[in-house]
Amino acid sequence: MSEGSFNPFNMAQHQFDAIAEQLQLDEATRDLLRNVDREFHFNIPIRMDDGSYKVFKGFRCQHNDARGPAKGGIRFHPQETIDTVKALSMWMTWKTAVVDIPLGGGKGGVICDPRNLSLREQEAICRGWIRQVAKNVGPLQDVPAPDVMTNGQHMLWMLDEYERMVGYKAPGLITGKPLGMGGSLGRTEATGYGVIYTVREALNEMNIDIKNTTASFQGFGNVSQYAIDLYTQYGGKAIAVSSWDNTDKKAYTYRKMSGLYLQELLDITNRFGEIDRNKAIELGYEVLSGDAWIEQDVDILIPAALENQVNAENVNRIAPKVKLISEGANGPTTPEADKVIYERGIWMIPDFLANAGGVTCSYFEQVQCNQNYFWTKQEVLEKLDSKMTHAYHAVSDLARERNIYMRDAAYLISVSRVAEACKLRGWV
Ligand code: NAD
Repeated sequence: MSEGSFNPFNMAQHQFDAIAEQLQLDEATRDLLRNVDREFHFNIPIRMDDGSYKVFKGFRCQHNDARGPAKGGIRFHPQETIDTVKALSMWMTWKTAVVDIPLGGGKGGVICDPRNLSLREQEAICRGWIRQVAKNVGPLQDVPAPDVMTNGQHMLWMLDEYERMVGYKAPGLITGKPLGMGGSLGRTEATGYGVIYTVREALNEMNIDIKNTTASFQGFGNVSQYAIDLYTQYGGKAIAVSSWDNTDKKAYTYRKMSGLYLQELLDITNRFGEIDRNKAIELGYEVLSGDAWIEQDVDILIPAALENQVNAENVNRIAPKVKLISEGANGPTTPEADKVIYERGIWMIPDFLANAGGVTCSYFEQVQCNQNYFWTKQEVLEKLDSKMTHAYHAVSDLARERNIYMRDAAYLISVSRVAEACKLRGWV
């Protein structure tokens, strides 16, 4: 799921190599951690509704499971690539390590566009996907979850197929399940809320009252919607959001200087996070170009759509007022853009810390499934807040102590935890 010649796996390796150098990791550890442990490529043949047959390409990558079973989502996207899946599985390893949960990193995907597939066809892809990897995933091996354009229903079809194959119930196979079917309260909110818990802590450190801040968001899907929700609950003013239009499938930025009204926008958004542009205009939103979200005169930028969105071409369009970037998406900032952001002194909360709320709540879902007893939403969100706050401060303390970029501090913590686990296991 990457544009042009941009390769997210090269970027993930580039980021890792710099940290491996700082940590003076030995060659074998570098070799192990800069590559994925296992990658699966497979065909998923499906009978389409019109009676024809079509073969979809599926992937699963397990980057590292030294700290526990691999963990990570499955994306359905027409531009999915194996290198995106590899990069994301590596980022999952760092993510589970930075929030210190006993899991490793994995990721999966299917090259398909669920917007053009019936529910029956999507169900067939889900069942086909899990049949292909059933021997290599499981509650104690690798635990998938929803990601871009997949949801609880997709997870349940996969779980159902897996349980038919193994002949027993295995709710710990997969997370992000619907409520009442082994899902956890708070999971829907978890990633977006987690992003804002870290924003809240960063603003506190800067002695800035969140109520006096404004923010611009990229994306209006699961992450962004709940980030906007909590940010506005805390009193912040979200003034711009960019998202795909539901008719021409192009991105536009929707702006209201008096502040976005979340429910009003949700009412004109489909389940893929695509906004009805004509209705937005009727509601008084200014419609700007898709990339205008980045040049808004705000305090906070939250890229929460996809990778490679803040790059060498547009980083200089970030307004002087911006103090903080919190990465809701995975890999939204390229290394060239990182350099500029660091030099400008903008405080960066890196993706695998900022958006770790989702996987943390998935871990809570596993814990609840294992004990077969489910917590209240308040209990889940309190535990989530505590984990995210703790992880944020561990990273920010190290960044301040060593006067280094936040992404580097987060990497130093994660990579040393994973390298240590590999050493203790005697792998390297
Ligand atoms: P989603 O599919 O629910 O929403 C994606 C949104 O981005 C949609 O509103 C879409 O219209 C918009 N979009 C796509 N391309 C765009 C572009 N070029 N310009 C503007 N908007 C664009 O996805 P999501 O679950 O919200 O995930 C968003 C990002 O966060 C992804 O990088 C994902 O990997 C990451 N993430 C998600 C979770 C989670 O729990 N959902 C957890 C961690 C990280």
